[in-house]
Amino acid sequence: MPSPLDIHMFPCLTDNYGFLVHSPDTGETACVDTPEASKIILALEEKGWNLTHIWNTHHHPDHTWGNDKLNDLYGVTIIGCEADKDRIPGLDIGVGDGDSFEFGGHEVHVIDTPGHTIGHIAFHIPDAKAAFVGDTIFALGCGRLFEGTPEQMFESLGKITALPDDTALYCAHEYTLSNGRFALSVEPDNQDLIDYMRDAKAKRDNNIPTVPTTVAAEKTANPFVRAKSAAILGDIRKAKDNF
Ligand code: ZN
Ligand code: FE
Repeated sequence: MPSPLDIHMFPCLTDNYGFLVHSPDTGETACVDTPEASKIILALEEKGWNLTHIWNTHHHPDHTWGNDKLNDLYGVTIIGCEADKDRIPGLDIGVGDGDSFEFGGHEVHVIDTPGHTIGHIAFHIPDAKAAFVGDTIFALGCGRLFEGTPEQMFESLGKITALPDDTALYCAHEYTLSNGRFALSVEPDNQDLIDYMRDAKAKRDNNIPTVPTTVAAEKTANPFVRAKSAAILGDIRKAKDNF
């Protein structure tokens, strides 16, 4: 049995999170997305870890900005969506839906989650009960539909919420309070949502992240997850864009 993976999360830029995933057995360390190279380097130094991999969820600059710099410094293997190979700086290994790879003795599953962008993927580590979901699902929200359709996002959210209820969802941004204000406009009487928001406010008042969330929590309170059809999801997404 491999030792459990160590997950370290830290704020980057205005509202992004950086994530390091470390294997105490092999010393391998992956960075999930690269919002801010300097913060990632600091986190690595703080932990005494050596960066070996980058896993990119999608090509947006706030997720790939540090790829080149970190690759120059550490000489890493960059894993990202094969369909987006021309948009992800330094991509070494292209992956897609259903692919899996081994990291520190643990299996990592790749899930296609288009909607926010076409080539968006999530990384699920079943035995860590953790999924890195980029800008697909947020606590009480979902990513903007920059490239994909409501149908695609509906299906992507369905795949993520089909993971076990106790899966920790590592979203790439701290958007929870503004998402929650919108969510309450959709479902003002949802007691689970009201409770969720009370907890989230208390956390943010104390500068505590609301990420990760869980599959179970999002099923009870996230209006995008709770949308019964792609059409309804599309309407809610439009309303959020103008909220
Ligand atoms: Zn994005
Ligand atoms: Fe982003």
